[in-house]
Amino acid sequence: MSHALGVLVHTPAHARLGPVLTYQSECLLPPGTLVRVPLGTRETLGVVWDSQSMDATEAIDPAKVRAVAGALEGIAPLRATWQQLVTFAAHYYQRSVGEVALAALPPQLRDLSPAQMQRRLQRGISKTAAADAPAASPVSDAPALSPEQAHVVTQIENQSGPFLLFGATGSGKTEVYLHCVHTVLAQDPGAQALVMVPEINLTPQLEARFKARFVPLYGEQAVVSLHSGMTNPQRLKSWLAAHSGAARIVLGTRMAVFASLPLLRLIVVDEEHDPSYKSGEGARYSARDLAVYRGRLEGAKVLLGSATPSLESWYQSRPAAEGGRYLRLHMPSRIGASGATSSPNDAPATTAQQAMRSTAGTPAGLPLVRRVDMNHQPRKAVFSLPLLDAIKERVARGEQCMVFLNRRGYAPVLHCTDCDWKSECTNCSAFRVFHKIDRTLRCHHCGFTERVPRTCPACGNPDITPLGRGTEQIEEHLAQLLADVRRPHSTSPECPEGEPLRVARIDADSTRLKGALESQLAAVHAGDVDVLVGTQMIAKGHDFRRITLVAAVNPDGALFSSDFRAPERLFSLLMQAAGRAGRDASLGGNSEVWIQTFQPAHPLYAALKQYDYPAFAAQQLQEREQAGMPPFCAQALVRADARTQEAAQAFLNAARVGAHTDMPLWEGWSEVLAQVTLYPAVPMSIQRVANIERAQMLLESPSRSALQRFLQGWHSVLQATRTHPECKGLIRWAVDVDPLAV
Ligand code: ADP
Ligand code: ZN
Ligand code: ZN
Repeated sequence: MSHALGVLVHTPAHARLGPVLTYQSECLLPPGTLVRVPLGTRETLGVVWDSQSMDATEAIDPAKVRAVAGALEGIAPLRATWQQLVTFAAHYYQRSVGEVALAALPPQLRDLSPAQMQRRLQRGISKTAAADAPAASPVSDAPALSPEQAHVVTQIENQSGPFLLFGATGSGKTEVYLHCVHTVLAQDPGAQALVMVPEINLTPQLEARFKARFVPLYGEQAVVSLHSGMTNPQRLKSWLAAHSGAARIVLGTRMAVFASLPLLRLIVVDEEHDPSYKSGEGARYSARDLAVYRGRLEGAKVLLGSATPSLESWYQSRPAAEGGRYLRLHMPSRIGASGATSSPNDAPATTAQQAMRSTAGTPAGLPLVRRVDMNHQPRKAVFSLPLLDAIKERVARGEQCMVFLNRRGYAPVLHCTDCDWKSECTNCSAFRVFHKIDRTLRCHHCGFTERVPRTCPACGNPDITPLGRGTEQIEEHLAQLLADVRRPHSTSPECPEGEPLRVARIDADSTRLKGALESQLAAVHAGDVDVLVGTQMIAKGHDFRRITLVAAVNPDGALFSSDFRAPERLFSLLMQAAGRAGRDASLGGNSEVWIQTFQPAHPLYAALKQYDYPAFAAQQLQEREQAGMPPFCAQALVRADARTQEAAQAFLNAARVGAHTDMPLWEGWSEVLAQVTLYPAVPMSIQRVANIERAQMLLESPSRSALQRFLQGWHSVLQATRTHPECKGLIRWAVDVDPLAV
């Protein structure tokens, strides 16, 4: 007898194919089973799905139903909770379940032949067996917890969460993660933990720390990584290890939130505020938000950690009496600062300087924040004199400095002073950036690159000049300014006066080649670099121990941005950058963060000076509440790409009208509609990219569930609007729920 089976395959977001295809099979395969099925003329990977739970599939002619080609042998079905997670993510983020489910699986499951797959599984198993013998007597190198850490850990063990661990950089959050993972794994021989970090670059450091702690206890296979920087075979191997339960700890970036983990007991989201947790394509999911959902689904504890939480999470962690749903845990002190730890190795923290600084409002152990009022500096000065002197003084002592500017390239625009020509991109409504290093003009949106013209392309004037500054120029400029400073203790027969300073740069340009970032970071760690210039890339996570001065040369732009989240991002970036300074307690006593600003009295900088995230958050939340912005409302964006701006906007505006005219029979629609505001379509801030016109429409509602109901119902209107005559030239559209930039 043959059974009808619902199977999910990879279907693009708005494909005509029903959400679940019907196949027949000789044996009854449970939902979650991975199968190979014929689709058109090829064979593809599918997941058996409970078709009852899906929207009705259309009536099928039994004679046309094709047979499943086979199940993937040796791989257990994906569990019900995984299926629920995928279904929820697809519905919430307005994509097809097939797309989300298949994208969440490693690509090689799709690509390998059954024979290849069998070999891969065999190899995995023999490795596990070899690794299973635990090391003789694992010596734990775990330090004794500080009182703050111990308090936090007790709370996590005794409450259900979700938890928001609000801890200063260097307060020992990672140590808390390690401790909680340890506890959870020790409680149950099958228990698993998922630990997420925002960026691939941060995984090696974390992996080393977790391996050092857990490989002696649970064997080589116990800790695996999952991120997009891995090769497909590596990804498959990690995925199988997690799915089979052999891996006890999965470390990964946002994609890891979908890892198949049969006995997930703890999810950690480190740097939970980081925008990288939100996917920018396909299903635009937030891995942080899905982690919270998944925790509830699986009965796993969820621990979000940050020194500067997202305002969303901060708001969720207000007191329960006021409606908060997360438990906020606080670790204000840096490890090594007085009172933070009982370790005997601490540097004495009660120097005269520390005492002075406490009176100035800087918490013990954290760098002093200094604001330089650029209104009193020579016009056009890139580096104020006091900052330059401070840098010179530090490098002359053998300390390192970090200079931070969030704009790469040499200059954002090239400009002709005669005819006002500017280096616009021909394909985008944006300027091409001048890169002096290879004398190119490069568009950072579409990639269009040309040699810099010798003379102005419009009028022939040979005098075309860079406008504004990027990291390349800062690097060059600083090397000139510091040309007469020598490295300490560097005299040698070849260099009797001592070697010149080394200024290096780390940004997306300097690290384009594989392995470049690692070697550049290694040079900084080894002390071969005196001054490091870079973008936000260098502000995140890296543990540079000899950096004692961090400077932001021009951070003001974010204060006046049209993006309401810009101040939040700036604050967290500067706090993170500050976290780079003075990590070595023996040098950290006098580390500093310099902010060059034309707005020295701005409340953001005032809060930064005190390291007072709560004050900053309170002020921002108040503004957001008054303006009815998230987290006090829910938002979604619909984006449309088209050949012309008119078509893109026409599509959005027609769908907006359709919400009122095309849905009259939908039960309860008018109530839903009354709770959702649809704003008129507008061009996106960079309106044209690679010759495609882009427009967007903002949707807002005080109720997240009303917005969700609206989007579910409105989807068919968007589909139908596509074919309207005025939308000719529309290329694609997509919904972004809880967008990060509006
Ligand atoms: P965070 O993740 O908050 O930045 P880490 O967990 O990386 O902080 O801790 C900062 C430094 O302090 C690390 O070098 C770590 O090994 C050390 N550390 C953390 N907890 C302790 C402790 N209880 N005793 C001694 N050293 C600690
Ligand atoms: Zn000109
Ligand atoms: Zn371009």
